[in-house]
Amino acid sequence: MTTAETLDEALRRAADAPTLVVACDYDGTLAPFVDDPTKAVPAPGAADALARLAGLPRTTVALLSGRNRAALAEVSGADAPVVLVGSHGSEWEGGFDSPLDDDEVALLSRVRSALEEIVSRTPGAHVETKPTAAVLHVRPVADPAERDRAQAEAMAGPAALDGVFVTEGKNVVEIAVREASKGAAIETMVEQTGAEVALFIGDDVTDERGFARLRPQDVGVKVGEGETAAAHRVADIPAVVELLDTLADLRG
Ligand SMILES: [Mg+2]
Repeated sequence: MTTAETLDEALRRAADAPTLVVACDYDGTLAPFVDDPTKAVPAPGAADALARLAGLPRTTVALLSGRNRAALAEVSGADAPVVLVGSHGSEWEGGFDSPLDDDEVALLSRVRSALEEIVSRTPGAHVETKPTAAVLHVRPVADPAERDRAQAEAMAGPAALDGVFVTEGKNVVEIAVREASKGAAIETMVEQTGAEVALFIGDDVTDERGFARLRPQDVGVKVGEGETAAAHRVADIPAVVELLDTLADLRG
């Protein structure tokens, strides 16, 4: 194995990439935590650094947040050409996710039919349809045993199909055919732009799904303490701003 690349070396390599994606988490990465989350404004210099990078050729800059997209836009003050992706990577400008491909449409239809079959035998239950998922709701079912039976059937049936992503809650089973994660969002941007390198910066546990999905040539930067799959780490938010400024200088 070769010597691990330093962060400086990785930044230089990212700056030299013909096409680059820079994706940043927002809270705790670009904006300090405050008591009122609607007042979590970007750290000094963060907005400028992002705008400067986003203005460079063949450079896509995105904020990837768990917040819904409208709230992210409001609090960050960021706008085009900075790409805003909300709801943990599933909410894009103009709606949720990119259109499903034929396989995903077929899989979603199969999931929905299976859930509707369960619902047909379970008075009170219903299926909610989302753009990329179908959701079984059993809360209104009067008999708790029937509720459990319906939920168990969903878990053993459509939720066990290949290619689905399942979130099981109390009285609810959501079965998606498109993963909502920051990792999937980064992959989407890389596919759309053809970027040779993606840089992803984040501070939280949910960002680990982003780091885990990066390709070997991509650059993951964890902010602060804690275990991480990212190859690099910076101490705090000011260090993120410095990193983005450095990258913009190198690439500009
Ligand atoms: Mg965060």
